[in-house]
Amino acid sequence: MEGNLTEYKLLIDGALCDGASSMAVLNPATEEILARCPRASLAQLDQAVAAAKRAAPLWAATPIEARRSALRKIAEILRANATELARLLTQENGKPLSIASIEIEFSAKFFEYFAELDLSPKIVDKSFGGQAELQRRPLGVVAAIIPWNFPVLIVAFKLPAALLAGNTVVLKPAPTTPLATLRIGELLKDVLPPGVLNIITDDNDLGAALSSHPDIAKVTFTGSAATGRKVMTSAANTLKRLTLELGGNDAAIVLDDVDCRAVAQDVFMGAFQNSGQVCLALKRLYVHESIYDEMCEALKAIAEQSIVGNGLDEGVQLGPIQNRMQYEKLKGILEDSAEQGTILTGGLMEDRAGYFIRPTIVRDISEGARLVDEEQFGPILPVIKYTDPEDALRRANDSEYGLGGSIWSSDVERARALANRLQSGTIWINTHMGMSPEIPFGGAKQSGIGLEFGEEGLAEFTQLTCIHLSM
Ligand code: NAD
Repeated sequence: MEGNLTEYKLLIDGALCDGASSMAVLNPATEEILARCPRASLAQLDQAVAAAKRAAPLWAATPIEARRSALRKIAEILRANATELARLLTQENGKPLSIASIEIEFSAKFFEYFAELDLSPKIVDKSFGGQAELQRRPLGVVAAIIPWNFPVLIVAFKLPAALLAGNTVVLKPAPTTPLATLRIGELLKDVLPPGVLNIITDDNDLGAALSSHPDIAKVTFTGSAATGRKVMTSAANTLKRLTLELGGNDAAIVLDDVDCRAVAQDVFMGAFQNSGQVCLALKRLYVHESIYDEMCEALKAIAEQSIVGNGLDEGVQLGPIQNRMQYEKLKGILEDSAEQGTILTGGLMEDRAGYFIRPTIVRDISEGARLVDEEQFGPILPVIKYTDPEDALRRANDSEYGLGGSIWSSDVERARALANRLQSGTIWINTHMGMSPEIPFGGAKQSGIGLEFGEEGLAEFTQLTCIHLSM
């Protein structure tokens, strides 16, 4: 048993405290208990919200320069502790250490980016002899609910914007990946005034209480569409502001003028990064019939060269599935895929402990199969043949989701003509999955409501207030 003797604590009202009970956190690469983690009770959730509510007026009145400094300090602390945090992230999430290190560094960049954004009032109309001034005011207490695929990065998508805008936060990581977040809470304990940031952990049982809590003004949620719908329902009572970043079933359309050998590596990475456990991963690959066999073979070759294993081991490129529930779901999708298509390469790695699936390429599969219709959220890619690009576009758009999508072509104008009609919040041409703090990001259709990143993302953590002044 690997055992991690660190004691993890909740952060409530500036104090580190034990949970009302505790729970085990497993390493998905070994299925061994990695650590015990506190589990907050409903009473502790209430204490965290009350602390955030008490701290809200003071934090809102704190000069923005001081809030900026706090964000810069957080970035510094993430960097200074990157080695420890990345290792913890690998152990609890499974991703390779090199990728976990990138996640920590990218998270620090989000804090730095938001530290520079402006929230000063704007005069928008002087035509009536007076003036109309727009102010961006904090909302109050924000609940931030996080999934397990990027436990630290998704915190960094939400926390800096919420804090810069003057809100206080109750943060809840996913039950299977709480450790790095709790450790960050410990590191930040004295950086922010008590109550400004509170971290509680649960066994998947406190989300509804958070998203319905009367003292929470906004919920910023990242997770599945199914849970997103529940959040929306429970937030309705008090008409909370909502940002919902939900699932996707991103389609990529590869046109007939593409050189498969040149793009296969990028297509592969678009689909299999983080073992496919990425909201914006390429999840349905539509390839023109004239290059279909060639693309399938090129992807198969890359899949077979990939090094899958424990993320702590040198050279590993792809880690395990993060948790048993997701692993079992993917096993079901694999079984269905074997009936509905042809598995070219990949499948379960049952000869070892851990939730491992090799990168799997499935060909001769189409709509109606679970792998095509559902969000697989794992390392299994359907390669779907098409004849007419208009038909591929129609099929790509025929989804309740609309998170991301991509068009691949050697003719940019041809690609753009299709990209202009792809129904998703983000569309790439000749790449898939890039993002940065400056570029607003959000889902179309049932992939979400609202935006994160950029000035637009920051605005969602504010109440736009207009003061009309008559001279
Ligand atoms: P999930 O919806 O199961 O859980 C997400 C979080 O919600 C967890 O912290 C969970 O404890 C909490 N939760 C559970 N029930 C709740 C309730 N009733 N009310 C409020 N919160 C509740 O998602 P997951 O399995 O952790 O993550 C995978 C999903 O997240 C995929 O669908 C993926 O596409 C999506 N995702 C989306 C984005 C994006 O930005 N669009 C990014 C990453 C992941």
